[in-house]
Amino acid sequence: MTEFFNQVSRRKFIVTAGVSAGAVLLKGCLGNPPETVGNSTQPAVQPVAANISPEQKPETTKAKLGYIPIVESAPLIIALEKGFFAKYGMSEVELSKQASWGSARDNVEIGSAGGGIDGGQWQMPMPHLITEGKITKGNQPIPMYVLAQLITHGNGIAIANKHLGKGISLKLDTAKPLLAQLKSSTPFTAAFTFPHVNQDLWIRYWLAASGIDPDADVKLLTVPAAQTVANMKTGTMDAFSTGDPWPFRLVNDKIGFMAALTAEIWKNHPEEYFAMRGDWVDQHPKATKALLKGIMEAQQWLDNFDNRKEAAQILSAKKYFGLSSPEVLNDPYQGKYDMGDGRKIDDKSMAAYYWKDEKGSVSYPYQSHDLWFITENVRWGFLPKDYIANGAAKAKELIKKVNREDIWKEAAKELGIPAADIPTSTSRGVETFFDGVKFDPEKPEEYLKSLKIKKASI
Ligand code: CA
Repeated sequence: MTEFFNQVSRRKFIVTAGVSAGAVLLKGCLGNPPETVGNSTQPAVQPVAANISPEQKPETTKAKLGYIPIVESAPLIIALEKGFFAKYGMSEVELSKQASWGSARDNVEIGSAGGGIDGGQWQMPMPHLITEGKITKGNQPIPMYVLAQLITHGNGIAIANKHLGKGISLKLDTAKPLLAQLKSSTPFTAAFTFPHVNQDLWIRYWLAASGIDPDADVKLLTVPAAQTVANMKTGTMDAFSTGDPWPFRLVNDKIGFMAALTAEIWKNHPEEYFAMRGDWVDQHPKATKALLKGIMEAQQWLDNFDNRKEAAQILSAKKYFGLSSPEVLNDPYQGKYDMGDGRKIDDKSMAAYYWKDEKGSVSYPYQSHDLWFITENVRWGFLPKDYIANGAAKAKELIKKVNREDIWKEAAKELGIPAADIPTSTSRGVETFFDGVKFDPEKPEEYLKSLKIKKASI
C-alpha cells in the first residue's frame, strides 16, 4: 500500500481548499473531530481533488449508483466516504440503498433521469440478462456494461440450527439420507435473494456436487434476506445462500451454522460486479473512467488489512448496513469464520478480497468468468443451450458487448497501475472447483457434458 500511495503523491494531486462531501460524511461517520481531517500524517484518508488533465476531466460530476448492504458494496461506499470518487472529479456521486435485487433491476431500467439509478452493484449475470431483456419488464433489452469485479469471497451457505450435527457441510454424503427423508414430507428448503444469479448458482453447484438435484430433491426459493432470517428462526427455512454480514450474523445470533463458504466451493471465485447502463457510459466515457479510478483506489485501500477495522466501522453505519456493531464484519474481514458447527476457519486467504487475490486481479472483469455464469444459466435451463453451442458463439458475442474490460484497462493505465497488475488475457484460464470439476472457458459445452446433474439436455 505504501508503494501505491507514494505513486499517488508522485502524480501531484492538489489538495483543494474545499472539503469534499466525502470528508464531511467521513467525519460524521467516525466521529472524528474536524481537525483530524487534513492531518498530514494520514495522507491516505485525505479527500483531495486530482490534478485532472483536461483530457481526463469527466463530462459530469454526478452518477447515481445502487447497492445492496452486503460486503460486495464496500468499494462503492469506501470510494464515496474516503473521497476517492471526488478525487477523480466525481464529486456528486449518490449511493442509493436498494431494497432488493428486483428493485435494483427496476431502478436501472428507468435510469437516474426517471428517479432510478445509472448502475452500481450486480450479481452475475444480471447485466447480461438485462441487456438481453430476459429479466426486464416486457422483455425490453437494456444494454449494460460490466466495468469491474467488486469482490471475491465473502459469501456462504447458512443452515438452520435444527440441522446441526446431521452431516450438512461442504460435502453432503452423510446428509443424503436426511435430505431424501425430508423430500417425501417437507422438502429441504433453501433461499437466495434473486433467481439465476450468484447465490442461486452457488447453492445449486454445492448441492449437485454431492449428487443432490436442486430441482428435484430440494425446494429453492427467492426470499428477501430479512424474511429468510425470520423463517430460519421459526424453522420454516432450512438454508440461505448470501453475502456477509448475513452468514456471520446467523451464526452470531445462534440461528444457524455455515455449511460452506463460497471460498471453499471455488477459491478466488468471481462474485459481484460494478456495471452501468450502456447509454450512460457511452455519453460519459471520461466520467465512467473516473468512477472506475475511484473504485480501484477504494479496492486497494480495502485490501490493506490495517484499514479493515475502519472499513467495518464505515460500512456498519445506519445509512449503509445498519449493524448494531461493526464486530460482525471484523472477523470475516480477517479470514476468521466461526462456522457455528464447531468448525473454525482462520486463514487470511479465505477472506474477502477487492483488488488482488492469489490468482491475480480481482478488480479486472475476466470475460472467462462471465462465460461460466452464462454456462451455469444454460446448465439449469435458465438460458437456452444455443448460447453455448458452436463454441459458445452466442454467449461470447453477448459477453463481448457487455463486458467492457477495455474500459477497465484504460482507467487502470490512467491511474498509473503497474503493468504487472493489468491482465493481458481476457481469460483467467481453467478454473477448479472443490469437487475436482474443472471449467475450461475454451470448452464450456464439454464442461456441461461432464456434469451429471443438470437440466439442459447436453
Ligand atoms: Ca453475493
